[in-house]
Amino acid sequence: MPIPRLIEEDRPFISLEFFPPRNEDALPVFLDTVHRLARLKPLFAAVTCGAGGGGATGTLRTARDLCEEKGFTVMPHMTCVRNDPESIAEQVREIRSCGIRNVLAVRGDFPDGVDSAPKGLRHATDLVRTVRQQDPDLCVGVAAYPDAHPESESIEQDIEHLRQKFEAGADFAVTQLFFDNRKYFDMVERLADKGCTKLVIPSVLPIRSFGQVRRLMGLCSTPIPGKLLAALEAAHASGGDGAVRDVGADYAAAQVRGLVDAGAPGVHLYPFNRAGLCLDVVERAGLMPA
Ligand code: FAD
Repeated sequence: MPIPRLIEEDRPFISLEFFPPRNEDALPVFLDTVHRLARLKPLFAAVTCGAGGGGATGTLRTARDLCEEKGFTVMPHMTCVRNDPESIAEQVREIRSCGIRNVLAVRGDFPDGVDSAPKGLRHATDLVRTVRQQDPDLCVGVAAYPDAHPESESIEQDIEHLRQKFEAGADFAVTQLFFDNRKYFDMVERLADKGCTKLVIPSVLPIRSFGQVRRLMGLCSTPIPGKLLAALEAAHASGGDGAVRDVGADYAAAQVRGLVDAGAPGVHLYPFNRAGLCLDVVERAGLMPA
């Protein structure tokens, strides 16, 4: 079923993002993680493509396994990068033949020195149109950035590009991680001001280690609020990564609770293919299904 139609009013959902296991050896841990996270009764399970998880084949295989063996509604990601309209058409056919109804269309990041994809898949809007042409019945999600995409000149420009992705045929959006809930609600309001009221699902990343904080600060344009950073630094100095994880779990739980209490329909969580921290966050947020 299309993801927006799965949402029940007044019943906040959790959805989860997985990356395909790197190889056969990683499979038992992956399956154990999925098994434990099934307790959350996720609305859907997203499966990344590229971005550390290999190409479309691994993504589709993992999505199909999660769908067939766990009964999850799944959302494989598709990218402009490393694709052309023919390979997208092939993927769409395979997706439909597995009975999958939802995909996330993202541009991906071009390798250094390459600034545009071959054959007209330059932006996610192009991918949305290509998927739509192949199969008008697929439900297509896109990426949204409460802190603006790093290549955008301003938040206004970024939101206008998001609006264009909806205009090109996207049915809903999933956000990049962010730490300040006001940014999410501000983005939703700005979209509504432009007449766009489609579903935007907020994403929360529970911080698990100080190394992850450093990587986030280096890689991602998402600012970490000063108070959170200070708490993480103090925790790291006094108790190492165990204490950092505890601060991260508390912050993520408060963020999740704050989002749903203020009207978000649910929250997308990044378990990084491990179960414990996300289970802890959902428990602390008081959203564990009965
Ligand atoms: P676009 O929508 O094309 O936007 C990229 C930049 O171009 C932005 O600055 C935007 O404002 C601008 N722009 C957009 N449309 C236009 C236009 N028509 N004309 C001019 N400028 C425009 N990456 C992966 O490789 N694999 C994944 O599985 C993956 N999953 C993701 C899931 C989520 C929820 C998110 C938020 C990101 C994901 N990414 C993934 C990362 C994503 O590929 C990168 O952030 C990438 O840099 C941008 O992708 P996009 O789809 O937002 O691109």
